[in-house]
Amino acid sequence: MPGDLRPGPGFPGIWVSAPVRPDRPFSPYTARPPEGAYWCRCGTSATARGEQAVALLVQEWEAHQPACPARTERPCQHCGKPTTERSTPSGWPAHDACYQAWAARAVEQRRRQQAAAAIAARQAQRRTAAILRRQLERDGCPPQVIDAIVSGGMTAVSE
Ligand SMILES: [Zn+2]
Ligand SMILES: [Zn+2]
Repeated sequence: MPGDLRPGPGFPGIWVSAPVRPDRPFSPYTARPPEGAYWCRCGTSATARGEQAVALLVQEWEAHQPACPARTERPCQHCGKPTTERSTPSGWPAHDACYQAWAARAVEQRRRQQAAAAIAARQAQRRTAAILRRQLERDGCPPQVIDAIVSGGMTAVSE
């Protein structure tokens, strides 16, 4: 089972096991307390048992990663220059500044996409209105009634 691969020399990482009672999978009360362990490439290691201790262990690991002296330099995913910084504790190699700039751009891109989608929706609405207008004209509907229906003031009822 991959969950049994505990970190150790040559296998750096963090491992957390929170056993679940098969008869009560959603119960927070389990037969065994959760366990955790990490082993870092710099030789730092720790183990923990119990909910709070494991939560602390995870925090400790995440705080240690950016500061780890043995962290290898990797090319930044944004500018290509080597860095020991990561986008998130377990994220991709990236300078803090490069990642922040990228994240801000992602937000800006989403905003532009939303604006484009709103324009497309308004265009679709206008096309639908034009089709409805042509149909009503064909049916011999008086122009002021067509205007009221197309502007949403009345509902077209077909019989
Ligand atoms: Zn370390
Ligand atoms: Zn960079």
